[in-house]
Amino acid sequence: MAAKAALYFTVKHNSYICCMSKANAIVMSGIRPTGFLHLGNYFGAMRNYVKLQDQYTCFFMVADLHALTTHPDTKELKENVHRVLAENIACGIDPDKAALYCQSHVRETSELYLYLNMLAYLGELEKTTTFKEKARMQPDNINAGLLTYPVLQTADIILHRATWVPVGKDQEQHLEMARNFVNRFNHRYGNVFPEPLAYNFGEDLVKVPSLDGTGKMSKSENQLATLYLADTDEVIRKKVMKAKTDGGPTAPDSAKPDYIENIFQLMRLVSTTEVIAHYENAYNDCSIRYGDMKKQLAEDMVQFISPIREKAESIRTNESYLHDIMEKGAEKARKSASETMNLVREAMGLHY
Ligand code: ADP
Repeated sequence: MAAKAALYFTVKHNSYICCMSKANAIVMSGIRPTGFLHLGNYFGAMRNYVKLQDQYTCFFMVADLHALTTHPDTKELKENVHRVLAENIACGIDPDKAALYCQSHVRETSELYLYLNMLAYLGELEKTTTFKEKARMQPDNINAGLLTYPVLQTADIILHRATWVPVGKDQEQHLEMARNFVNRFNHRYGNVFPEPLAYNFGEDLVKVPSLDGTGKMSKSENQLATLYLADTDEVIRKKVMKAKTDGGPTAPDSAKPDYIENIFQLMRLVSTTEVIAHYENAYNDCSIRYGDMKKQLAEDMVQFISPIREKAESIRTNESYLHDIMEKGAEKARKSASETMNLVREAMGLHY
């Protein structure tokens, strides 16, 4: 396919990660309004959005329909949608450059989702890691939307015929499924969609670990071990100081236990190269003091998070500004969606 051939991509661990391209790519991604955004969302997704918006046609959405699969109560949805929008803008998304919109405002999404559902098989959906995890976490609400989450996500992406999807590592399997659905559609009805690829500026997709050494930072799990972009300076300090450590290495150049490697990994995200080198050396010659390291990390996190928090807070309360942004973004998204859906209906023979 032309769009795929123009891309430079690497094949790693049986998956495609898009690294760079000379093509005029279309970029699409989204974040669910299910709680406060955190450092994982920033480094896995938003950091890449900001880098991409200057050069490419970008569609970034607040995935409110996806939120219903795990958060059926809509009482807090409006507030959460506003917060996610404000936090995206505070992190550097420019609504004049990228289309920043709300998923449910683009109705074509639901139509495409329906068609794609006929191309998705129960066996493959049931095997999806995120489905299995979520089903375990909400045994009383294993709804069909949860099962078909990767289908809706595919609809979001290919509605704009996007090829680059800036996401964190947890989304890798969904992107592989998206390519399968695309290939099935193209095979059955004709070539409408390019294959979407997970995108990161570096080579590997990012997974920001939680502070307690188990799993990843997340909006709704592990809240005490997740650093949110809305956390106050005091809360950031407290959470970082509680991160799990031990008595330190007893032999030079030892391998780091996972929970210590996690602290280094967090430091690599926000600290200077000198600071990182200092603690790497101290670890390797066994002189490291984890108390000092965590104090340094806490201060670097405060420096990083507090300007975003303050900016987001001032935007979040400006409802009419947020409303205008969403409307402008939805207009751009609907235009692109309606062009795609004409092609889809034509290819499927739904024009009578
Ligand atoms: P959450 O898992 O917090 O509910 P979403 O499912 O809304 O987040 O994901 C939004 C984006 O943030 C996705 O691109 C996802 O890959 C990314 N993301 C979420 N958590 C992390 C993490 N800990 N590290 C890296 N990226 C992450």
